[in-house]
Order: sequence, then structure tokens, then C-alpha cells
Amino acid sequence: MKGRAQYVICAFCGRRVPRDKAIRTVKRSFTYFDERVGIKHVGTYEKVWACPSCGRHRGLKDLRPKRGRPKKR
Ligand SMILES: [Zn+2]
Repeated sequence: MKGRAQYVICAFCGRRVPRDKAIRTVKRSFTYFDERVGIKHVGTYEKVWACPSCGRHRGLKDLRPKRGRPKKR
């Protein structure tokens, strides 16, 4: 059954995009040292969604397998 499309928030522009069209990618946070707290933050990968325009603009790769992508009508 097909309900309403699920929406995800683009991590780069904050736009709401249909999940079918969104790109699954990773955002990397860099390692830095917080002097006030005295803690070293280690860079981590965060899985985020991105809209197609941001994905194309930033050259992001879709992590999802192509086979699992819905076909265009
Ligand atoms: Zn975007």
C-alpha cells in the first residue's frame, strides 16, 4: 500500500524533500580541540539526508544501492 510520501530534511539547506528523491550521504565532522572544555573532539561520520540539488551541487554520492531506488514514472 502506498501512503503519503515520507519527507526528510536536507542536512545542508533544511528543505523538506520526498524520501524517494533524497540522497543518503555522510557528513563528516572534523577533529578539533576544545580549549574551554579541554576535550578533544574526534571527527565522526554522521549519516544525513540531502536533497538532489544539494547532492549535485556538492558532488555527494548516494550511499544507497541503485537497485533499491524507486523507478521514475
Ligand atoms: Zn538541500
